[in-house]
Amino acid sequence: MVFDLGFDFGTSGARAIAIDRSGTIRARAQTPLSAQTPEVWRDALFFLLEQIPIAVRSHVRAIAIDGTSSTGLACDRAGTAIAPPILYNDRRAAAILDRLRAIAPPNHLTISASSSLAKLLWACHSGYFAQNTPLYFLHQADWIAFLLHGQLAIGDYHNALKLGYDPETLCYPDWLFDAVPAAIQLPEIVAPGTKIATIRKNIGDRFRLPPDCAIVAGTTDSIAAFLASPARQPGEAVTSLGSTLVLKLLSRTRIDDAHFGIYSHRFGDLWLAGGASNAGGAVLRQFFGDRQLAELSEQIDPNSASPLDYYPLLEPGERFPVNDPELAPRLAPRPESDVEFLHGLLESLARIEGRGYQCLQTSGATPLTRVYSAGGGAQNRTWSAIRQRCLGVEVVASPQTEAAYGTALLAASGAGS
Ligand code: ADP
Repeated sequence: MVFDLGFDFGTSGARAIAIDRSGTIRARAQTPLSAQTPEVWRDALFFLLEQIPIAVRSHVRAIAIDGTSSTGLACDRAGTAIAPPILYNDRRAAAILDRLRAIAPPNHLTISASSSLAKLLWACHSGYFAQNTPLYFLHQADWIAFLLHGQLAIGDYHNALKLGYDPETLCYPDWLFDAVPAAIQLPEIVAPGTKIATIRKNIGDRFRLPPDCAIVAGTTDSIAAFLASPARQPGEAVTSLGSTLVLKLLSRTRIDDAHFGIYSHRFGDLWLAGGASNAGGAVLRQFFGDRQLAELSEQIDPNSASPLDYYPLLEPGERFPVNDPELAPRLAPRPESDVEFLHGLLESLARIEGRGYQCLQTSGATPLTRVYSAGGGAQNRTWSAIRQRCLGVEVVASPQTEAAYGTALLAASGAGS
């Protein structure tokens, strides 16, 4: 019996899932992250490893790690972080966007305060890193994997997209080298799932992992969640019905449209095109608790369309599928009946989802054939039926939605490489 192990480092916690060769979960562990620091990540990694039963641990074939997108850190030659990591939600890089605009191609996806390239340039120019020191700049997943394989600095092309790496030509573009100071060493980029090395001897001995256990290149937490779903064919998509509405569609063609915040990740021979609306479940939660949502939904007839036309936002501003920073939430008129009100909200969110997939297709993505659902709203069968009517394709709850499961599958895919 062999197992593959995936680790997910998310915004509030870290999880590990071990699967067997049939994809069945054989062990799992989780821990909260008290802070987002390299020490906390390392302790969480080792804690999670210890929680996996020895019977499983001692037969692990491959390990992969996902991390939050655009969380980056600089380290020295020994792999020691030289400053606190710059986290996914850090906006300080807004200060250097004009500088980035002057060097990057127009509308490039790195021209955003949340991109790792903007964060790196901000850190270099603000004195955040010690000057003139040779440094490695890594993403969170790269650095955590380094703890296991010991090679500096190797990254994957999912995490590296927002660093400016070109997933089409599979290299860093020339303009990037002009922008980044020579003292900064960017990670060598490989495909997610590529075997990087076997486990470091001291770590393997300490946790009783097999000496030939492979550490493979990881991915971002949101792509890991996509990988957890069965979607693998062009036209298949995953809608995440969490606090916000996030759409990811597998496409034969690469599409990028900065106006709508649309960009594509390389996904083997395909492209994973995505867009994120600010509308979503957070607005449902403003009005109803989760139990109430389930009970009221049972009373809705999903076959009849609600005449109510809302735009459920928490605050003004939308990027996708309409780009309008001033777009106001529209939640009136509210009928007396809560069932009718919820029907209107779910129907309106389904229309936004439909418009989102339309927007991806209008930009050139492969037409939608099937949608898998993930997130808090995925189990709502009434909503699935409404969505199926609005989208005109089959809507199925994804049997697995955890990022750590997707990362375990990624480890399995790389086990033989
Ligand atoms: P996130 O991780 O983005 O915060 P989750 O995936 O945990 O979100 O989902 C939470 C959301 O799911 C909440 O906004 C909640 O309103 C919504 N939700 C929970 N239960 C249901 C339900 N039965 N129907 C529709 N939405 C639901």
